[in-house]
Amino acid sequence: MSTSEASGGIVIVGGGLAAARTAEQLRRSEYAGAITIVSDEDHLPYDRPPLSKEVLRAETDDVTLKPAEFYADNDITLRLGNGARSLDTDARTLTLADGTTLGYDEVVIATGLVPKRIRSFPDLPGIHVLRNFDESMALRREADTARHAVIVGAGFIGCEVAASLRKLGVDVVLVEPQPSPLASVLGEKIGGLVARLHRAEGVDVRCGVGVSGVSGDDRVRTVTLSDGTELDADIVVVGIGSHPATDWLDGSGLEVDNGVVCDDVGRASAPHVWAIGDVASWRDTVGGQVRVEHWSNVADQARVLVPAMLGQKAASTVSVPYFWSDQYDVKIQALGEPEATDTVHIVEDDGRKFLAYYERDGVVVGVVGGGFPGKVMKTRAKIAARAPIGDLLG
Ligand SMILES: Cc1cc2nc3c(=O)[nH]c(=O)nc-3n(C[C@H](O)[C@H](O)[C@H](O)COP(=O)(O)OP(=O)(O)OC[C@H]3O[C@@H](n4cnc5c(N)ncnc54)[C@H](O)[C@@H]3O)c2cc1C
Repeated sequence: MSTSEASGGIVIVGGGLAAARTAEQLRRSEYAGAITIVSDEDHLPYDRPPLSKEVLRAETDDVTLKPAEFYADNDITLRLGNGARSLDTDARTLTLADGTTLGYDEVVIATGLVPKRIRSFPDLPGIHVLRNFDESMALRREADTARHAVIVGAGFIGCEVAASLRKLGVDVVLVEPQPSPLASVLGEKIGGLVARLHRAEGVDVRCGVGVSGVSGDDRVRTVTLSDGTELDADIVVVGIGSHPATDWLDGSGLEVDNGVVCDDVGRASAPHVWAIGDVASWRDTVGGQVRVEHWSNVADQARVLVPAMLGQKAASTVSVPYFWSDQYDVKIQALGEPEATDTVHIVEDDGRKFLAYYERDGVVVGVVGGGFPGKVMKTRAKIAARAPIGDLLG
């Protein structure tokens, strides 16, 4: 049976970091109307970075961003375990999975990403992706007794899972078709140093080769690589990237192109619709569209989107992009906009830890450090000022 509720106010679709930050920012900005968070997950909004780190290594189970009292105290209604199925931007309604229709004054899309799977793989137990808490717990349970893991894809998630599984004593093969881990994000030079780090920890890093199939009986047993090699596997983790969770917007008429297309404050292509976080493609300062999949970007966007939605003056919008990744005892950090195609100047390398400046057109555009947090952060002003690379190399 479907019901209709004219809840009105601001409805946030998604139960992750972007939803929580948007709701918090709304109350901080003294918005006094109704706020509803609609999530397809049963959990309170939680933090994802620990899922491939502390949660997987069984060091914590608590990743909740705010306790239930926070939502009660701030009069934020949580509708959990009942995701949005469709959006009608003319009627200003959402239809939820159980058929309930919810009215809104403004809707904020914060539905994040869906991990890519390999369609040709059979549906065997032991094959995992990692995006949510339940998936992390499922992998952790199997890692407890597993001896051999094959990780398909050496992006950030694949590398972090490799590090966590090694710590749990599992033999790990990391398979990456590109010439090095993280090659498409940070380039081959830094990728080579990351491969070195994993090899030093006993990971069998195999680059320049793909996966042609998996096989098993009651569960996965073997992975076959494109060069014909057969690998034992009790666990396979597919870490080949994600795509924006926008299927539910089919038929809404909203412009979607590698995420929900937005202007530079998060306004989508229909009135009263906004998008934030990993699912949102915002216009950048030079008129391009950028979709960022990093934690600190979310709070930055909430500080821009919420004032725009409430018709308030935004605080300063200038911030230097930042992300991190923990692999073993090495915190890899990137500040600015380093790209694989930049000229990379490695200025520190002790055989494990490293620091590199990224140069484009003679200017410093980013810094990437592995185990040099102080030196990474010290570069912030130079990156913000687009200083000549000579200022840092001098
Ligand atoms: C394992 C892992 C490790 C990470 N580590 C790092 C790190 O070390 N450093 C870093 O900078 N970033 C890291 N990130 C990225 C960071 O966590 C994300 O940038 C951040 O979670 C984005 O928040 P979000 O709210 O946009 O998306 P999400 O956190 O994915 O939240 C989206 C929510 O929307 C829900 N949803 C989806 N569809 C619907 C629907 N139709 N209706 C209702 N709800 C829906 C989802 O179930 C989910 O709860 C990591 C991500 C993962 C998965």
